[in-house]
Amino acid sequence: MAKLDKVIRADEVKVELKKFRSWFDVPFQTPQDKLAKAVIKQCIEIIDKLKPVEAEPIKHAHWMFYMDESGEWWDKCSGCGGKIRNEGGYCCDLPRCPNCGAHMDEEVAG
Ligand SMILES: [Zn+2]
Repeated sequence: MAKLDKVIRADEVKVELKKFRSWFDVPFQTPQDKLAKAVIKQCIEIIDKLKPVEAEPIKHAHWMFYMDESGEWWDKCSGCGGKIRNEGGYCCDLPRCPNCGAHMDEEVAG
């Protein structure tokens, strides 16, 4: 599978382009101002024509270290509840949950 490029929101790009286009709304427009506005308008139209890609929002979670009733240690994903047996007695350092794919970089208060 090809590595995804940066996925961005088209509506946010269009807002920024429209702000940029407004820079050229000056009282006495030069041919360059008019050209710049036309180019930016064309960029917005191109964005509208592009096909969307299938992309899911990135899930963020963290590992929760706990002992079950039988005295065995586990790491549990805060996102999906998936468990990994903890042999080493320290919190799991896998960067992604193997069950749900969450990025284990969620900040935990306290
Ligand atoms: Zn998970």
